[in-house]
Amino acid sequence: MSKNLKIIFLGAPGSGKGTVAEKLIKDYDIVHLSTGAIFREELTNNGPLSEKINSYLEKGELVPDDITNELVKNKINNIHDNRSIILDGYPRNVDQAKFLDTFFKVDYAIYLKISDEVVIKRISGRMTCPTCNKIYNEHFKAPKEPGICDIDKSLLVKRSDDNPETIKNRLKTYYDSTFPLIDFYKNKNCLVEMDSGIESDEVIKNIKELISF
Ligand code: AMP
Repeated sequence: MSKNLKIIFLGAPGSGKGTVAEKLIKDYDIVHLSTGAIFREELTNNGPLSEKINSYLEKGELVPDDITNELVKNKINNIHDNRSIILDGYPRNVDQAKFLDTFFKVDYAIYLKISDEVVIKRISGRMTCPTCNKIYNEHFKAPKEPGICDIDKSLLVKRSDDNPETIKNRLKTYYDSTFPLIDFYKNKNCLVEMDSGIESDEVIKNIKELISF
């Protein structure tokens, strides 16, 4: 039974937000909203905002708040009130968090904590299956056949922003803009810190121990 929980995932790029959220929604009736995935979908579909969005994604910078906030609010408004929601990658700065506060009461801000060293290894080796969204890693979790999804044999793809130069900028953007949210949610007494430098199944086990979904 859904408990109408409102959860946000905070953490550096590569901290496992998407992986952990995707696994949790297999076990519970939760809506997973990832702003990064929404933007990538807009690019794939060549949508009206794709050129503008791409200019930010390829530099590892944040898409402007007016675009992002409106998009997220619309998506949330279309979700039935009773459903639990995980916001992955939003908010990403204090202004977005203040905007979110006006219509979405965060129950848990889960901070997936990880070192920069592991982030760089994770992101540089990341490959995703375009069919089933399973995430692999050349260094830690390689597919059985190089470049091929174990499950559906699709050709794995690398995100275009997972290159060394953009990764550096994404980390800088994270520390400049997103990191202050740790204190923001600590002050609201809903911050939960989780070590995310471990296997995602362990992270999920720890989250399940803490939150009764
Ligand atoms: P992610 O998949 O979460 O790593 O996001 C990929 C890229 O999408 C980021 O580097 C940003 O350019 C953009 N993005 C994702 N979420 C946001 C957000 N909340 N605000 C602004 N830009 C975002």
